[in-house]
Amino acid sequence: MHQPFYASSQINRHGDFRSDKELIEKIISDKKTKFVPVLKGKNLFKQSNNNIEACFFNTEQLKIFNPNGIENPIFLGVANNTNYVGIDIDEHNSKIDLWCSENSVIIDDLRKYGPTLNDIDASFLSLNNGMTFWHKNHQFCGSCGSKNFTTEAGFVKVCSNIKCGKSHFPRTDPAIITLISSEDKVLLGRSPRFPEGMYSTLAGFVEPGESLEQALEREVFEEVGVKVKNIRYFNSQPWPFPASLMLGFFAEAINEDMNIDYDEIEDAHWFSIEELRSLKHPSISGGFKLPRVDSIARRLVDNWINKFN
Ligand SMILES: [Zn+2]
Repeated sequence: MHQPFYASSQINRHGDFRSDKELIEKIISDKKTKFVPVLKGKNLFKQSNNNIEACFFNTEQLKIFNPNGIENPIFLGVANNTNYVGIDIDEHNSKIDLWCSENSVIIDDLRKYGPTLNDIDASFLSLNNGMTFWHKNHQFCGSCGSKNFTTEAGFVKVCSNIKCGKSHFPRTDPAIITLISSEDKVLLGRSPRFPEGMYSTLAGFVEPGESLEQALEREVFEEVGVKVKNIRYFNSQPWPFPASLMLGFFAEAINEDMNIDYDEIEDAHWFSIEELRSLKHPSISGGFKLPRVDSIARRLVDNWINKFN
């Protein structure tokens, strides 16, 4: 089974470093530290030979954009004896656009290049995306509306109103994703938001007070009118685009007849193993595409196909 993307086992987040302000200061001024930039929610990449690589900054380069020091650096962790610190580059900083064009730096969505990056870089970039998104959306206290300040090397925000003082922690939203089978066929559907021709497993967010199994049963029935049994956990996939954790399951259909909710799903079909292999289906003209390789949807489908090899 393939390991999840964006979750390298070679990374140590070193949560124990976060409250040591002196150590974090030292890391931030260390010339060897790699700074992971995010700009307008996107990542920076550069061409290296024939490959696309993640673009990191060192302390000297950072001074170009932030001569007064960086605001709210996020200590992301350590890999191969190198410290990684996340930064959100101010999108109104005029120097960055010029610097990017002079250095042929590509600004784009991590999902475009993620599968080709090395595991450690892709994981730090995705972690930083999730963290900087959370920072942007938690500048003010959700309880009293006062400004939050950042502590624990970027992993906690605390309300500045002494009477409130509420701590806020990074959020991740659980979502179930499931491959539904009926004997040797599986159910795939497409949302209008999907890339053209792509069919994928069904997914949805878990609601408060709901178990994962209940969320799965509810989502599948709402979207395609199919009841399921024998729910089995597969694997998970962090998906900080911007803040999800995908929990993958297999489930078996009780009924094959579908009642599609066209407000949510544009189209759905049962696919045989031959149809999955050939990417052709009698009801889809011009063939179809499977989900992107870095997604858990694809791992669920590949796992299913491999059972028949
Ligand atoms: Zn507050």
